[in-house]
Amino acid sequence: MEEELIGIKNAALSFILEAKDLESLEETKLQFLGRSGKLTLAIKEITKVPVEKRKEIGILANEVKNTIEEALKRQEKILSQKKKSALFEKIDVTNPGIKPPLGHLHLVTQAIEEISEIFERIGFERVRYPEVDWDYYAFSALNFPQNHPARDEWETFFVKSYEDPKMGKIVLIPHTSSGQVREMERAKAGQKEISIKMLNIAKCYRRQSDVSHTPMFHQFEGLVIGKDISIVHLKGTLDYFVESYFGKDRKSRIRPYHFQFTEPSFEVDVTCGVCLGKGCKLCKAGWLELGGAGMVHPNVLKAGGIDSKKYTGFAFGWGVERVLMMKQGLEIDDLRILYSNDLRFLKQF
Ligand SMILES: [Zn+2]
Repeated sequence: MEEELIGIKNAALSFILEAKDLESLEETKLQFLGRSGKLTLAIKEITKVPVEKRKEIGILANEVKNTIEEALKRQEKILSQKKKSALFEKIDVTNPGIKPPLGHLHLVTQAIEEISEIFERIGFERVRYPEVDWDYYAFSALNFPQNHPARDEWETFFVKSYEDPKMGKIVLIPHTSSGQVREMERAKAGQKEISIKMLNIAKCYRRQSDVSHTPMFHQFEGLVIGKDISIVHLKGTLDYFVESYFGKDRKSRIRPYHFQFTEPSFEVDVTCGVCLGKGCKLCKAGWLELGGAGMVHPNVLKAGGIDSKKYTGFAFGWGVERVLMMKQGLEIDDLRILYSNDLRFLKQF
């Protein structure tokens, strides 16, 4: 029995030393210490040893077991360290790393930043006013009569909870022009002379949803008020913007139109980016419609507490999505793709 146990110990120790990896070490462990391992079976046999020798054999068996377990632990430590350093050897530190995927600003946000920068260069100040505002600022103060169709439930989102006797209902602003009278009130506070150069960019809301309209869109609104401000200033600003944003080869023109809050009012057109004004399939007559503009109506100045005999001003308000599409020459079949968060589309910008 002693010889058998010594034989098991020697065999186990040589297997352990020869183990090249953790897997074969684990196999060796099972082979000797597992449920039907060699040592386990030998220990079971001790009951058959004559009583007077049993204690001695028991002690020896225990020693053999301890020796094998210790050898296993030692070898396991050595092998796992080897495994680790082998892993490091495989890493070539001169290899370029894996770049994490980097996104970019949404193309509407990019356009807003670019537009802001263009107007800030000529002294416009970027402001923000409420996107949920009183009917008064959205309509009444802008010279809209009570029965004007823009106030229709089918045109504008009304917030039903409250109606103020003086300010009217609460609306989701249908245009950035709602910031005009708020800006006049701000400029007037404590000032002797009025000088406004406002750029108001905001989300606007209208009851519309089809391929060329979304219920939420962005507008940017310019408002300039001062002494002797005329249509010449308006036209100069339009030309400056069109050249800065669309490119030097693009021109603007104004043609008469009607808006409640400007007098006279104009539609602003830009020469087509494809044919540069010669006329093509996309534009037909060489021009693309940019949006509205005009000289601030005296009633709007009055609502803002500004003397229309002393001061004049101009305003314009255009869609961010619209100018963006006109610049890119994008023929988007469905404008709603801008807000669908489809990376296949967004990654192209
Ligand atoms: Zn064209």
